[in-house]
Amino acid sequence: MNDCLFCKMVTGDITPDVVFENDEFLAFNDINPQAPIHVLIIPKRHISTLNDADDALLLGKLMQTAAQLAKQFGVAEAGYRTVINCNAHGGQAVYHLHVHLLAGRQMLWSPG
Ligand code: AMP
Ligand code: ZN
Repeated sequence: MNDCLFCKMVTGDITPDVVFENDEFLAFNDINPQAPIHVLIIPKRHISTLNDADDALLLGKLMQTAAQLAKQFGVAEAGYRTVINCNAHGGQAVYHLHVHLLAGRQMLWSPG
């Protein structure tokens, strides 16, 4: 998509701080980290929101990629949090599907 921030990262128009890449996914450090490790994992194919994700295999691989990165960062055993925000009430700011991987500190449950 032309004016999608994360698509521009896929095409190389914007250069994120990449931590992982393969044919289907790109992972990079969040510009405004909420934890010592805060990585965003995106499918390279533009999908606006979780509501639009009709590819179960891709969704499964997206989550597996998050777990794989947690292992690579050495936080899998201590634990981590994965988050997908969807639409306005979910707090989604960038309308290109992404998983937040947060780790490196104790997460506290917050409904807000
Ligand atoms: P969400 O609210 O789930 O849509 O999350 C969007 C995330 O994208 C936020 O955590 C932002 O800090 C992050 N973000 C926005 N712009 C950039 C950027 N240029 N590079 C890396 N992360 C970004
Ligand atoms: Zn996009």
